[in-house]
Amino acid sequence: MEKTDIIKQVHDNEISLIRAVFMAPDGIIRAKAVTPYGLESLLASGVGLTSAQTSITVFDTLPPQSAYQPVGELRIIPDPSTFTILPYLQGHARMLSDLMTIEGEPWELCPRGLLKRTLRKLHEYGLIIQASFENEFTLYEQQGNAWFPFGKTPSFSSESIDQSSDFILGVITALKNQGVYVEKFYPESAPGQFELPICHQPGLSAADQQVVFRETLRGVALAHKKRVSLMPKPATNWAGNGCHIHFSLWDNNNRNVLYDRTDDYELSLIGHQFIAGILDHLDGLLAFTAPTTNSYKRFVKHGWASCYRCWGPDNREASIRLASSFSHAPEKTLNLEYRAADPTCNPYLAMAAVTLAGLSGIERKLELVPPVLSDPALLSLEERSKYRISVYPSTLEEALDSLEKDEYMTNAIGKNLTNEYLIMKRHEIETINTLSGDAEIDTYRFLF
Ligand code: GLU
Ligand code: MG
Repeated sequence: MEKTDIIKQVHDNEISLIRAVFMAPDGIIRAKAVTPYGLESLLASGVGLTSAQTSITVFDTLPPQSAYQPVGELRIIPDPSTFTILPYLQGHARMLSDLMTIEGEPWELCPRGLLKRTLRKLHEYGLIIQASFENEFTLYEQQGNAWFPFGKTPSFSSESIDQSSDFILGVITALKNQGVYVEKFYPESAPGQFELPICHQPGLSAADQQVVFRETLRGVALAHKKRVSLMPKPATNWAGNGCHIHFSLWDNNNRNVLYDRTDDYELSLIGHQFIAGILDHLDGLLAFTAPTTNSYKRFVKHGWASCYRCWGPDNREASIRLASSFSHAPEKTLNLEYRAADPTCNPYLAMAAVTLAGLSGIERKLELVPPVLSDPALLSLEERSKYRISVYPSTLEEALDSLEKDEYMTNAIGKNLTNEYLIMKRHEIETINTLSGDAEIDTYRFLF
């Protein structure tokens, strides 16, 4: 959208606050808002932000080891093409933003900037990625002063579709009015748990959509006097909330290069190599796709969330499920599902990290291990070691250590970004460890 159109829309729709939403590596959706008096300046040169923000933790603390301190300035630069009037909050509009230096250069620690750089790299291979983040979440309602999960029905319960209708239709409509299209909806198995898969989009739009999705889910819940939790494992004995990343790779002729009709599983050589790259870097990748201490509680045996490093056709216990194609359009529908992600992930970092890991598989022409055709937890130790199937890191600390040791990932993401991320996340863990009671639940339940 042109800047003049934005100013007109703000005027015509009586918008009072326009927020410039940005996402630092911590994955929290943050924003600075301006009134119409500040709009021209926002559109011309953004709004200021401390350069320490990209090292600040979810607790709003700046780790003392960080290279960035209270002196230094960035600009939050809104992307006019993302301008949206919020359908669920009267008088508000939003733009998604990039973090830039005051000289107008992309800030090297900006996750949206990293994803743009990664997609350009993918483009050098003649490829674009189509992707969709498939969120599960827990809906809460208030009873007295406390919050409880909304309903408890079996998975895919038709009754639960009745019960949750007002809220869900509110979310679907609000998303549609922002150009985000929900494809499916179903209740899941844990108390208050639902899933809302949305239509895929090319790389950057897919990650942007995830921010809009999270914003809208939270905003509509608030309007319905409800709350939504994206916490990966709200309770030990409940199914976790995953955020599976579905994706496929396309060439300039609009051909899905993952598809090969002649392969046993319809998976091309590029597809094999891409999966091999992801599996090779998985332990470090988890630091981005499962970025909270709570994320590791979701990775349990037989939990349908995956906890063994492996892949398999339609295998919901594998890190990567090769999602079988639909008979009406096999080439268009064959896609990969990265299951080791949860909705606390920063979608820009997660998609960039998965793509960079996959590309390393293509660059090195990595050979892929055979697929796992059963629940990997049921395989013998010998079978697991034969196919190099290892169990995931069991804590965020271990995943961060793996990332630090992974030279390719560290360089591909950028040394500075990775270093600050490690410092920030380790500081977050330290803080959680000093808190008492249900510190983890209190920290993460309604944070993302
Ligand atoms: N809830 C599972 C997870 O944590 C996913 C279940 C499913 O396949 O939809 O990833
Ligand atoms: Mg599900």
